Amino acid sequence: MYTIQGKGVSKGVADGPIYFYRRGGGEVVKTAVSDVEAEKKRFEDARQTAMQQLAELYDKAVAEVGEEGAALFEAHQMMLDDLDYIDGINDMIEGESINAEYAVSQIAEQFAEMFASMDDAYMQARAADVKDISTRVIGILSGVVAGGIDSDVPVILASDDLAPSETVQLDKSKILGFVTSGGSGNSHTAILARTMGIPAIIGIGDALTEGLEGKSAIIDGSTGEVAIDPDQITSQRLLKKQAEERALKALLDQLKGKENVTLDGRKVMVYCNIGSPDDVDPVLANDGGGIGLFRSEFLYLQNDDYPTEEQQFQAYKTVAERMGGKRVIIRTLDIGADKQADYFQLDKEENPAMGLRAIRICLTRPEVFKTQLRALYRASAYGKIAIMFPMITSVWEVQEIKRICDGVKAELRAEEIPFNENVELGIMIETPSAVMMSDRLAKEVDFFSVGTNDLTQYTLAVDRQGNNLDKFFDSHHPAVLRMLKMAAENAHKAGIWIGICGELGADVSLTETFLAIGIDELSVSPASVLPLRSAIRSIDTTKNSQKILDDLLSD
Ligand code: PEP
Ligand code: MG
Repeated sequence: MYTIQGKGVSKGVADGPIYFYRRGGGEVVKTAVSDVEAEKKRFEDARQTAMQQLAELYDKAVAEVGEEGAALFEAHQMMLDDLDYIDGINDMIEGESINAEYAVSQIAEQFAEMFASMDDAYMQARAADVKDISTRVIGILSGVVAGGIDSDVPVILASDDLAPSETVQLDKSKILGFVTSGGSGNSHTAILARTMGIPAIIGIGDALTEGLEGKSAIIDGSTGEVAIDPDQITSQRLLKKQAEERALKALLDQLKGKENVTLDGRKVMVYCNIGSPDDVDPVLANDGGGIGLFRSEFLYLQNDDYPTEEQQFQAYKTVAERMGGKRVIIRTLDIGADKQADYFQLDKEENPAMGLRAIRICLTRPEVFKTQLRALYRASAYGKIAIMFPMITSVWEVQEIKRICDGVKAELRAEEIPFNENVELGIMIETPSAVMMSDRLAKEVDFFSVGTNDLTQYTLAVDRQGNNLDKFFDSHHPAVLRMLKMAAENAHKAGIWIGICGELGADVSLTETFLAIGIDELSVSPASVLPLRSAIRSIDTTKNSQKILDDLLSD
């Protein structure tokens, strides 16, 4: 047995085999085969597996985004069953005695070129589809897996780091924990792990070699310890800790149904952050009071093209209905910077965190923005939806957003489509500019929600994705806390509420400070709801608040 050390970013103990994330891509190599019949069978088996995967994806998409949104997977099945396509591949394997991967890639190219040269725009668009199904078949043939995991048992997933577009496609039922060589505490792998309530360790570096594949391991997300082939003493120690954590969780479970109220009677809204409709399950299981941040990017990152209004409507409606009248704050798309979707065709930027991202894309491409707003307003007829806008820096942006919202509402009214006329509109406070302008911004909206991940990044000028910057990425920095205080004062002066939806909101060492500052809502990962409730219920805000505020401002 031996131990390697990383940084724990989501607590908990997990034991299981290490499994490396299977990433696709790479060039398809041409090789000669001697048994063409066996190669043709290999292709047929892969094609059948792909058909089965597409059928499963279709069922999942119908449940999440409705039939229209799922239609793509049905079309892909039909394409994969096309005799010209199948015969083309088999003839090539047989005629040239070559491997199935290469034949699929060549026939896919020929079909794509043929589609692309057609006059009809619909047929032209099929070029991307034939490439997509062929990539799937090639992936199966070469052992690359849709969703990155091909294991019958749950695993500790290892990788360098995962891109947001990869995390949204993971088969989450197969993951016990994450270990990554790179990454940061604010990476999307870390955020996903906290949402799922499973351990994650980042920054392991070169010690995380592919030689560890299949080895049994126990990881401790609070200390960053990764025990490989653990001996009996280590196993006992870590599994005892796992049992203690489970017991603590059972104890916290007793707080379900209780209020988030301080000893002196102050109530706090404790909501949850989610990244997809599936995440509503842990929200309900952990007694979340609402959704404080629904990162709608998932719809954009898991698609090969802009999600349609109907697809989005179904996803938002599902979440609103499942939350049954509780507030569901959906953030409009926050694409750009680290969250890239190819079809947006964004230019490569020197400084993407400061580039064309989030609301800047929406205000530059109003047609994309309007499609999302129409879906959101339509879904507002089915629950208590509120809309939140990311990366705000200026008052004019909010005024422009409101003008576009009014236009969308007028359209829906004219089309006699039902929606809630009084959907609350809020903004994220995640730039220093938004804090400094918070007195004016507060007059424009119904609520503020502080994104401490980006607010820390922009206030301290420290890249939140930076591998070696965790020491400098200090969300407890007085500059960040003073910003919170300023935004809270201005929110309350204008009579609106303020919350925190960045990762800092779950940090119970600061809960008393947040209450002293006047924070009204905390939106955290589902697994953090009950620990936070426990912290809130132990605080008396009449005791230390003044001292906390004085300390914050003293030099
Ligand atoms: C934040 O910046 O704190 C936030 C909640 O948004 P995201 O992490 O999605 O950028
Ligand atoms: Mg942000």
